[in-house]
Amino acid sequence: MALPPKILIVGGGVFGLSTALSLRERHPNSQITLVESGPIPNPHGSSVDTSRIVRADYANAAYSRLANDAIQRWRSTAWGAEGRYTQTGLLLVYPSDSASAKEYARKSYANVRAIEGDKVVFLPTQKDVLSVVPPYGEELDVAGGYVNWGSGWSDAAAGVRFAKGLLDADGKVEFKTAEVERVLFDQSTPKPKAKGVVLVGGETVEADLVILATGAWTGKLVDLRGKAVATGQAIAYIKISDAEQKELENLPTILNFATGIFIIPPRDNLLKIARHAYGYRNPTTVPVPGANSSGQTMQVSLPETGVPVPLEGEEAFREALRQLLPRFVNRPFVDTRICWYTDTPNGDFIVSYHPEYEGLFLATGGSGHAYKFFPVIGDKVVDALEGTLEPEFRNLWTWNEVVAPGAATDDIFDGDGSRSGARNSILKDELARTKKAARKGVL
Ligand SMILES: Cc1cc2nc3c(=O)[nH]c(=O)nc-3n(C[C@H](O)[C@H](O)[C@H](O)COP(=O)(O)OP(=O)(O)OC[C@H]3O[C@@H](n4cnc5c(N)ncnc54)[C@H](O)[C@@H]3O)c2cc1C
Repeated sequence: MALPPKILIVGGGVFGLSTALSLRERHPNSQITLVESGPIPNPHGSSVDTSRIVRADYANAAYSRLANDAIQRWRSTAWGAEGRYTQTGLLLVYPSDSASAKEYARKSYANVRAIEGDKVVFLPTQKDVLSVVPPYGEELDVAGGYVNWGSGWSDAAAGVRFAKGLLDADGKVEFKTAEVERVLFDQSTPKPKAKGVVLVGGETVEADLVILATGAWTGKLVDLRGKAVATGQAIAYIKISDAEQKELENLPTILNFATGIFIIPPRDNLLKIARHAYGYRNPTTVPVPGANSSGQTMQVSLPETGVPVPLEGEEAFREALRQLLPRFVNRPFVDTRICWYTDTPNGDFIVSYHPEYEGLFLATGGSGHAYKFFPVIGDKVVDALEGTLEPEFRNLWTWNEVVAPGAATDDIFDGDGSRSGARNSILKDELARTKKAARKGVL
């Protein structure tokens, strides 16, 4: 299917850059512009960090297969070169008291075993688990798990820099640094049509097709109530010595689906500990976006950047370290950060035309697991734009229903069954508790 001549992508993370790469390849006659509010890599974006897990370990076989396609590119093309991909395996563990974590691991094991064969080893007891990660403590509260030596991790910021470099090299995509305030609509047609965007400051950028790849900020530009929510996830970094770096750098990434805690092997003497959880919400009042925006407001969770991990999150990390690497329990965190997921009800992406408007497309809903698909997701986005996306992904990623007026904004999604932790944490409440504890000298 032909796409219109002027295409505007908003957002310079995994979805936006990967889409730009595929569009400039498959639709070389279209004029493509990408608008991003900050520099690329943007340190506030979800796609930018020291590391992201690259795994085909999914309970859903469709994601396993797509991740396997991506892993082939990470392994054997320029995507994974120069340290952008490191394959040290993934250890997925569950404790005795979490049936859902065990069930996820069981399905995921079956899916990756079908792909990676003997590289995937079932570990039925705590002793078996510890045998693949000897430096980890015997306190580790696990009943079993499995290791997949075919998984790895990517240097996330370096991956973004690589994709931007490919686009800069041939100059076929024009970049603009600006924040989009709202989508601009032509109201003269029966179904309003997106005709560009208005930037903060008032300038307009016209286009025949607008693709929002705006991650956790998307809820400001289109009404996503009941469809997606921004949840803040905790990350902390610990400085380690050369000897500690050597000891830990070749271990598999450990992911505990019961606590959500994961540790990716360190690089450059920096160890990252993070949590894949229901996360913090940040309710924010914004005008209801859309063609018929009448000044009404709604409250939705949107990212707050530049804030530290609250005490509750730091304590969860300390507890995990007490079990895993007790010698680091009291080591100071040199940095902490809240990184924002765009969570959907089942953890499925949104790669779809907007049901209410012509010419408006969404490529988002990363739900905490989209980074690994960087080398392949753009092709899927372009398939969806052309109407040729395979049915299994079309069924998972298409948005059909319009948001009902007055839809709830406080839905807490279960995701794909891999989340843990408190279900309704509000970031500013947790930060206020942290401040109070600091005043009392608890910290
Ligand atoms: C803590 C954490 C750990 C994760 N771990 C993994 C993992 O191990 N493996 C994995 O595969 N995935 C992981 N993910 C998920 C993955 O990183 C995300 O799903 C993916 O990066 C999302 O990409 P994106 O393009 O949707 O969002 P982003 O990277 O956030 O890109 C959106 C961009 O849009 C820009 N933007 C937003 N609004 C506007 C506007 N109005 N105007 C202009 N620009 C705008 C933003 O500045 C941003 O740069 C993790 C995510 C987090 C937060």
